[in-house]
Amino acid sequence: MRTKYNTQNKINIITLGCSKNIYDSEVLLGQLHANNIEAEHEKKGNIVVVNTCGFIEKAKEESINTILEQVVKKEKGEIDKVFVTGCLSERYKKDLEKDIENVDSYFGTSQLPELLAALGADYKHELLGERLLTTPKNYAYLKISEGCDRPCSFCAIPLMRGKHRSFPLEELVASAKSLAQKGVKELLLIAQDTTYYGLDIYKKRALADLLRALAKVEGIEWIRLHYAFPTGFPMDVIEVIQKEPKICNYIDIPLQHISDSVLKSMRRGTTEAKTTALIQQFRKSIPNITIRTTLIVGYPGETEEDFQKLKNWVKKMRFDRLGCFTYSHEENTTAYQLEDNVPQEIKDKRAEEIMEIQAEISFEKNQEKVGKTFKCVVDRKEGDYFVARTEADSPDVDNEVLVDAKKYYLKQADFTNLKIIEATDFDLYGEPLS
Ligand code: SF4
Repeated sequence: MRTKYNTQNKINIITLGCSKNIYDSEVLLGQLHANNIEAEHEKKGNIVVVNTCGFIEKAKEESINTILEQVVKKEKGEIDKVFVTGCLSERYKKDLEKDIENVDSYFGTSQLPELLAALGADYKHELLGERLLTTPKNYAYLKISEGCDRPCSFCAIPLMRGKHRSFPLEELVASAKSLAQKGVKELLLIAQDTTYYGLDIYKKRALADLLRALAKVEGIEWIRLHYAFPTGFPMDVIEVIQKEPKICNYIDIPLQHISDSVLKSMRRGTTEAKTTALIQQFRKSIPNITIRTTLIVGYPGETEEDFQKLKNWVKKMRFDRLGCFTYSHEENTTAYQLEDNVPQEIKDKRAEEIMEIQAEISFEKNQEKVGKTFKCVVDRKEGDYFVARTEADSPDVDNEVLVDAKKYYLKQADFTNLKIIEATDFDLYGEPLS
């Protein structure tokens, strides 16, 4: 039965999960458009593709609920077809095919050609790196590799994304040039582990080389490094950040925990002493560097003492940006053999305590910015405010600078100097210089 959309199929892509999934949806959009197939991101369409996340329990629930919502729409005749791809589909394809039958097909994370064929399109290899952006036009994610070779005990990502594969440097530079021609001014470098870049194809850590090459791309003004890994961190990256003005004084480096026994069980290959020394080295080399990290609480065997150690360390290290997850017991990970012995309410309470500490730290650090002027990029207008960001803020995860739109006008995608006039724990209020 055809729905009212009729004659022309229109594909609606729904993306769940992380920036790497957004990147994959943008590649899919680019391929469909190159095949003259109408497709949009999270709009309307009679054919729906759900790009799922399968990382942790909460994310899996959200993906399953989204699939079920679309299946209900199909059963009501509001849409014609539902296709599912992404990490949850890669990890649980057999179960999903059994449990949610009314999906037309399920595809894994490396089955783009098959998904395109099901959508009536041909995979166009010549489009490598080309995609249709879903982010505001001034910034774009640049995925520099796929998969991960790290043994982190709690993590299911290698099960869904496979072994680490770096993308050739020339292709990434070509992508950056094409993005710059489209008006992109800020690149966010993403991967499962950006610091592993090059070890497979160049037999050496080549992230610094990549950063230097990207810094030469005309039109790109900011390059931001996400998903760094502490163990074996290539210190030449810090030298490049120091020297290259286009590379933001910013680093996102998930550290997960600080207790040596927990780090050992997590198979992170590092210790409290080494991690602390690394962060101190970053700050010594680049005094105004902004450091974002992510922590996990409630890992199997995490004692109250381990948690107190983590809390005290967060207070001492005063990260600029910090997120905290509760441990999710994921089958087929090595940690799954351990007893998930920290009750959920304790996990939640510990995460809350960490974020309370971080809110205070963030508030204090933001107060220090009041009265100062920062180069900012304008992302969008939202309600009564223009929303901008300083170099210290990555989109969607960090602070924003709010400018009163009733008083001032700012142009989207412009860089402009804003004076901070007020600050809360996670937002800043600014005004253009008169
Ligand atoms: S680095 Fe560790 S946590 Fe990150 S994707 Fe790889 S295995 Fe998972």
